[in-house]
Amino acid sequence: MPRILLVEDEEKLARFVELELKHEGYEVEKAFDGRSGLEMAETGGFDLLLLDIMLPGINGLEVLRRIRKASSLPVIMLTARDAVMDKVTGLDMGADDYITKPFSIEELLARIRVALRKSTVKAEESTILSCADLSLDTARHRVTRGDHEIELTGREFALLQYFLENITHVLTREQILTQVWGYQYMGETNVVDVYVRYLRNKIDDSYETKLLHTIRGVGYVLRDDA
Ligand code: CA
Repeated sequence: MPRILLVEDEEKLARFVELELKHEGYEVEKAFDGRSGLEMAETGGFDLLLLDIMLPGINGLEVLRRIRKASSLPVIMLTARDAVMDKVTGLDMGADDYITKPFSIEELLARIRVALRKSTVKAEESTILSCADLSLDTARHRVTRGDHEIELTGREFALLQYFLENITHVLTREQILTQVWGYQYMGETNVVDVYVRYLRNKIDDSYETKLLHTIRGVGYVLRDDA
């Protein structure tokens, strides 16, 4: 059965939607704020996200923007009646659909069915990027090396995808920050080094052939030197 993540801070509404969806046979997990919703979405394993826009902490549009960096998870935005800009922005940012509050459960169920059907079609059109025996499936969000499946977080996945899209090209920390974290990112640039280390630990450390190389004074490159 499809697993749905519901991010909605109005607890009564969230409870109601959860019960109705479970009644239809869906598995449902809830988050009540943007940050925990984002964390849950990034751990993966969901088939669809129902995402409220007005959320405490990180709002729904920002959650959507961050999710879209790494994943094509179907997203239906839950919007207030007259928030036209939110709908437009949401769709521009890659939401699959939106539904205006208050909505009937039948309408929500119909939109969920459509979004899930579309994503099945999309999954069949996924792109496989690879380097040596490492491969990444963009739509299924799967990474394997040889016969082993590798579990990556959303950010690690986005980082690896960026390396694979630029295979053999040396990428600077600034390029990586801009592409993977977004130009609005205000934190430390050494976040790139930290994530490269996480990624190496998963894709290289237990393998003889190393694919992710440090170019001293410049940045990083993914290539098969063997
Ligand atoms: Ca809300």
